[in-house]
Amino acid sequence: MKNSTIPYGYSVQNGQTVVVAAEKDVVKRIYLDYLAGSSPNRIATALNSAGIAYRNARRWNKNTVYRVLDDARYRGTDEYPSILCAETWDAVAAKRNQNSCPYMDAEFLVIRKKMVCASCGGKLTRNWEKSKIARWECPACGMQTEGIEDAAIRYQVVAKLDALCQNHDPIQCPRQSKPIDFECIRLEREFKRMASDPAAKPSELDSLIQQITQLQYKNIDPKGCLFATEQIRLALDKLQPSQCKNKELEALFKQIVSKVLMDKNGAIQLKLKNGQIL
Ligand SMILES: [Zn+2]
Repeated sequence: MKNSTIPYGYSVQNGQTVVVAAEKDVVKRIYLDYLAGSSPNRIATALNSAGIAYRNARRWNKNTVYRVLDDARYRGTDEYPSILCAETWDAVAAKRNQNSCPYMDAEFLVIRKKMVCASCGGKLTRNWEKSKIARWECPACGMQTEGIEDAAIRYQVVAKLDALCQNHDPIQCPRQSKPIDFECIRLEREFKRMASDPAAKPSELDSLIQQITQLQYKNIDPKGCLFATEQIRLALDKLQPSQCKNKELEALFKQIVSKVLMDKNGAIQLKLKNGQIL
């Protein structure tokens, strides 16, 4: 098979169809932009101005974008490794058929329950009028978004979880200002004094060390953040990021995410259970 006859995003090496990493990112971007409300025309223009070429250094146009949006092989087949989650592809297919449901499906409800305003932390409400895409509004501060597809929000959340699965490094205990604990300082002085006193009882020294350690630990990790961070990492270890199974992602979401922050541009950040915002 010639490379020119297989879908954008793949090539053939030693008789095997393989994913072309750079093209895979472009496919994902096209799907995400489309779900976020961009037209195929606008998507093509944006790719061309970013200097991203279609096959054989050709420019993108509406039709080549549609070709990518309509190709079910990106979901994965026996011959083609998957490039997209089935849910993403299905969301685009539903939108292409113009029967995208104005009501939310069950899995989106899980996300919706945790949606808060990125400016003030207030709970967001979803405003939907017939034949329009839902807007999000913060009753507390008045923040309001343009229309955003539920699928686009879901896609952003899934993409973030996916990225965290692949690389745990960004998951860190957020830096906390360490309060000065005068009790701790007093105990440390006391310990120094006793340690240099030959008459001091070992049991008293032990007890002091214990008290100091407890106080220090409380100062380092006042909200059990180190523990929560470790739990998040463990949860991520159990998941195969590329598989994108609905139920697993939903469980992971519930386990590690405490809030979903949205700003007026519809951009999403996740507040994790350890207090960190990513
Ligand atoms: Zn607000």
